[in-house]
Amino acid sequence: MAVDLHLHSVFSDGTATPEEIVATAAEIGLTGIALTDHDTLAGIPRASAAADRTAIKFIAGTELSVEWRDQTMHLLVYFLDPGPGPLQDRLVELRAARDERNLRIVSLLQGLGLDISIEEVTTEAGFGVVGRPHFAGVMIEKGYVESVAEAFDRYLAAGRPAYAPRQKLTAEAAIRLARDSRAVPVIAHPHTIGLRAAEYATGFRQLVSIGLGGIESYYGEYSPEMRNQIAGICDELGIVATGGSDYHGRYKPHLEIGVGRGDLRVPDAVFDQLVSARQPCRQLGHDASQNGVV
Ligand code: AMP
Ligand code: FE
Ligand code: FE
Ligand code: ZN
Repeated sequence: MAVDLHLHSVFSDGTATPEEIVATAAEIGLTGIALTDHDTLAGIPRASAAADRTAIKFIAGTELSVEWRDQTMHLLVYFLDPGPGPLQDRLVELRAARDERNLRIVSLLQGLGLDISIEEVTTEAGFGVVGRPHFAGVMIEKGYVESVAEAFDRYLAAGRPAYAPRQKLTAEAAIRLARDSRAVPVIAHPHTIGLRAAEYATGFRQLVSIGLGGIESYYGEYSPEMRNQIAGICDELGIVATGGSDYHGRYKPHLEIGVGRGDLRVPDAVFDQLVSARQPCRQLGHDASQNGVV
């Protein structure tokens, strides 16, 4: 029995609808899922309603890009309900900042001689939050590159000529806002931060003290050894070893729901551990009483 707590739909840079994701999850026998579209909760009502028609347990989530030690870290936020709230309100601003950044990317690409308009990119995104994979989609359609990976490597990745940064919360602010919203913040795919796994316990301890609830340990890109190593570090830190496929449909064609590259299996016990991590006093121990969060 397994779960998948990292999934993207058409509401951000995935290509499957929430209903299609739930249907696939049911087909392969997952017991729980979380939808984690970038900077939005717009897909949550549909995913939750679809999950309710199955035996699959559902967690409302989102994925944020935050700043930590001058680097970009991705933070998954679980149990963030749609509607107003401390973090929810910030998502509105983050999406507005994306709009400005998207215009900047278009003009950088045009400056490099690529004939691409913002209308083409927003059409590619449909009603989803626009992200760089949508630029990549248009670039493939127009024959400028052959794959999403090539679009990032040549143009869109940090340090490449059409890269434009966007507004981010700091990791600390995002963690506090998440806890203020009764949600559980978790570091996504920690290998993307310039830190060796052996350094995670020391590096992330301060974030745990302010409310970090977990680290994504069961991830498709990791060897079984690395998954176990990170899960061990989570044990040491007293936080949850979470996991998921980071499914994006056609934008990441090598990743499948539930199984990642094929060998992923996120233990279903993780689901209930995450539910428990929602209780601040239980999760934070003495720090919770210091912060008056009880
Ligand atoms: P954005 O949200 O616009 O900053 O775009 C970030 C998204 O682009 C990530 O969530 C991934 O889905 C995708 N992405 C980032 N780097 C790459 C890469 N090198 N190859 C393919 N997709 C990537
Ligand atoms: Fe993405
Ligand atoms: Fe991510
Ligand atoms: Zn993701």
